[in-house]
Amino acid sequence: MGAYYDEIEIEDMAWDDDKKVFHYPCPCGDRFEISRKQLKNYEDTATCPSCSLIIRVIYDPLDFEDDSDAEDEEADSEESQETESDSDDFYDAIDKLHISALYVPA
Ligand SMILES: [Zn+2]
Repeated sequence: MGAYYDEIEIEDMAWDDDKKVFHYPCPCGDRFEISRKQLKNYEDTATCPSCSLIIRVIYDPLDFEDDSDAEDEEADSEESQETESDSDDFYDAIDKLHISALYVPA
């Protein structure tokens, strides 16, 4: 209590997809880590496994409340699909325009 090395917002931490943890560099050379499971359980203390330092993670527990083990992919794919379909529509429209211009009866 009151012994946090620092307070870090979750947005400033990096995500390790292999270990399924958020991490942040520790001055000792290792890194502070906190898992999604901890966040979901309203824990906000990330610890460095190599030294005794801890940081307080600033985040919104509601973001992790309905987290399942299948996780993550929803948010990621949603984002990329959106940009892709936008440009597809654009090029489809160009194609149709081009084709109809070619086949206009003389
Ligand atoms: Zn450390």
